[in-house]
Amino acid sequence: MTKLAQTLGLTEFQTEIITTVRQFVDKEVIPTAQELEHSDTYPQAIVDAMKEMGLFGLMIPEEYGGLGESLLTYALCVEELARGWMSVSGVINTHFIVAYMLRQHGTDAQKQKYLPRMATGETRGAFSMSEPELGSDVAAIRTRAKRNADGTYTIDGQKMWLTNGGSSTLVAALVRTDEGADKPHRNLTTFLVEKPAGFGEVVPGLTIPGKIDKLGYKGIDTTELIFDGYAASADDILGEAPGQGFFQMMDGIEVGRVNVSARACGVGIRAFELAVRYAQQRHTFGKPIAEHQAIAFQLADMATKIEAAHLMMVNAARLKDSGERNDVAAGMAKYLASEFCAEVTQQSFRIHGGYGYSKEYEIERLMRDAPFLLIGEGTSEIQKNIISKRLLADYRI
Ligand SMILES: Cc1cc2nc3c(=O)[nH]c(=O)nc-3n(C[C@H](O)[C@H](O)[C@H](O)COP(=O)(O)OP(=O)(O)OC[C@H]3O[C@@H](n4cnc5c(N)ncnc54)[C@H](O)[C@@H]3O)c2cc1C
Repeated sequence: MTKLAQTLGLTEFQTEIITTVRQFVDKEVIPTAQELEHSDTYPQAIVDAMKEMGLFGLMIPEEYGGLGESLLTYALCVEELARGWMSVSGVINTHFIVAYMLRQHGTDAQKQKYLPRMATGETRGAFSMSEPELGSDVAAIRTRAKRNADGTYTIDGQKMWLTNGGSSTLVAALVRTDEGADKPHRNLTTFLVEKPAGFGEVVPGLTIPGKIDKLGYKGIDTTELIFDGYAASADDILGEAPGQGFFQMMDGIEVGRVNVSARACGVGIRAFELAVRYAQQRHTFGKPIAEHQAIAFQLADMATKIEAAHLMMVNAARLKDSGERNDVAAGMAKYLASEFCAEVTQQSFRIHGGYGYSKEYEIERLMRDAPFLLIGEGTSEIQKNIISKRLLADYRI
């Protein structure tokens, strides 16, 4: 083994695109990330370059103008992007989930309408489940779409925590439609909401109030979304299937969890790279700190965690690509990779001594970015719920 997180069995194209993304990250992302992050500036030039590289259409089928690549290719590109700056991978994450949901659940007309524009990055996706009162408990959604006598819908309610809420132009929003089903999650419907990018009342009845000020994950916009008498048509329902929203979103979140694992691997790899370099430069008691066994063992511990997380992420992606159910594998990969990422960034921070606390050093940003991965696409507790439920079903006595 020469470097961490190598993946066996990649095709020539996969190797080529991942190498291209890595070179782009080294040249364009790492040198600018710290400054853009500290000023909370949207990385427009980086996003434009990602469009040029076709990254917005990576998993969109070729017939719609995308590259038709696998979840594995996507995840490995995300790992590289997050190694440079987690926010950059966040720009394509919600887009990729919405494109995936359209591909899997959209009608032909919806696919024709949105996917070609999504492949070029002209249309940019965000997804919205969370509300001020709920995140984990998705079935408790309160935002309501009332069906009118003419078959149209009127939506009212408040959504929370939309990644790319301001910069996106297509939001997949999960709302309550009261299909009269006995179980709450059968009353949820996904609406495809088109809007211009920006803030304020962007279309009648739909307001994006502004950016939420966050601990980390800066540069990228995270917003609320307020529906106030927003008019939607029945054609705006994903797959024209009212009451199927919960299942559609869970399908999207499942691939999203592989993506979060990949981001955790990327952030962890960068934290390791910084630590292994610093440990050889910094001297105490007459030798590089890397020669103190306590520090060398930390490096060994970090590298082992990164390898384990990477292998689980690759396994979960390959399982999904093979058409197998991967909820447990994705949940395990997300849980392990995000927890390990939080630990590895903390270890790297400690190796940096006092300098780790300085804003001049990259590790302070990674320390602020990593905790989001413990929360986004379902907290560790929710992953453990998913994993344990399946285990108890599969190992029932
Ligand atoms: C920066 C950022 C970006 C985000 N982007 C998006 C987005 O694009 N779209 C979107 O829809 N959402 C988004 N979210 C929301 C995110 O998905 C939720 O924050 C997350 O699911 C947790 O929900 P919550 O914050 O309401 O916490 P809660 O659900 O209130 O949970 C609070 C605590 O209780 C624990 N808990 C809850 N239920 C259980 C249980 N049954 N058993 C054990 N423990 C439990 C949780 O693990 C957590 O520790 C984003 C969040 C952040 C911070």
